Amino acid sequence: MPTPSYIELRDVRKVYKTAAGDFPALRGINLSFERGEFTAIMGKSGSGKSTLINMITGIDHPTSGSVRIGEIELYKMQEGRMAQWRGRNMGVVFQFFQLLPTLTVLENIMLPMDYCNMYEPGERVARALKWMELVGMDGMADKLPAALSGGQQQIAAIARALANDPPILIADEPTGNLDSRSANLVLNLFEKLAAQGKTILLVTHDPTLVRRARRRVLISDGELVHEAIDRALPMLPHPQLLLLTKLAVPRSFEPGAVIARQGGLDNGLIIILQGEVQVTRDRIGHPPGVIATLGPGDYVSELEMLELPSLRLALRAQGPVDTLCVPLASFGEYLDAHPASEKILRNAAAQKIQKYDPTGALQRDKIP
Ligand code: ADP
Ligand code: MG
Repeated sequence: MPTPSYIELRDVRKVYKTAAGDFPALRGINLSFERGEFTAIMGKSGSGKSTLINMITGIDHPTSGSVRIGEIELYKMQEGRMAQWRGRNMGVVFQFFQLLPTLTVLENIMLPMDYCNMYEPGERVARALKWMELVGMDGMADKLPAALSGGQQQIAAIARALANDPPILIADEPTGNLDSRSANLVLNLFEKLAAQGKTILLVTHDPTLVRRARRRVLISDGELVHEAIDRALPMLPHPQLLLLTKLAVPRSFEPGAVIARQGGLDNGLIIILQGEVQVTRDRIGHPPGVIATLGPGDYVSELEMLELPSLRLALRAQGPVDTLCVPLASFGEYLDAHPASEKILRNAAAQKIQKYDPTGALQRDKIP
């Protein structure tokens, strides 16, 4: 049996009751994270990122569905126990640093230890100072928050979130209020903590920061985009990635199987999840010539097959191959309904053909 993931959300839904009626902010989220994973959670403003994060921290509760962290079913715990458990197991950082203004930096960092009654009281100062050193704030212990820059305040807030040495660190747009230099310092710190084995969830809509996380999860209108679709087609708008997520079906192929062929077979868009796929050129009376080898994360669309019909391109599974496929008919309807995306995909197809055949030699080669 596969080992269960560290954090697991199952069919999490959240409906907000508003004057205008019910608003579904999360529409059935299934998502898991492994221990030590550093994940960026992305999405447009209003897509549901904070709502999702609040379901994991237990700050709010889902309308339905479950959240398990390690052995703990979060929403089966009593409120008081949950607050204690969260204080020991999760550090949470927000966009606005929320340091208490009348306490020094050191005192702010010690608060979670006091609250959760962690460590001997005599030990707390030394531990807080150690965290300050780790985040590069040595010498600032006795300052009040107002004496620090925005970036320094956020780093102090991260040190406070780390006070009880929790295995999980969750940050909701922690750099949203920082200049790019301070944002970079905060990211350096997250990378360092990830390297030490912390499980980190970072909400951001800054693409330069996202690239530094090992994994990216994209949410659009309260639903998750399939991660392989997001990785393969980052040039498409988020709602379209969600639409393709819904149209795609998993398909597996035996070694040697033809996955797609110009004008044939029912796969309009193929995203490779597992295994190697050869792009071949079929020529009568010859073995197929291999033009390129693709792997996990690569995609092929029907538009590439059609770009240069004379090349007679086909796709073949080299070993066992797992894919996500959008069937030909639904892919065609999708392209008809979204001309701007069709144009983007056509351009991408032309560029790929250019890569397969940079000198035009294949096109000049008239062997049928
Ligand atoms: P994000 O963090 O991605 O910007 P949020 O999770 O804050 O998005 O919000 C998702 C959607 O839910 C938005 O349309 C927002 O207006 C709505 N929403 C968030 N919180 C509430 C609330 N307490 N009551 C009603 N609607 C809410
Ligand atoms: Mg938010």
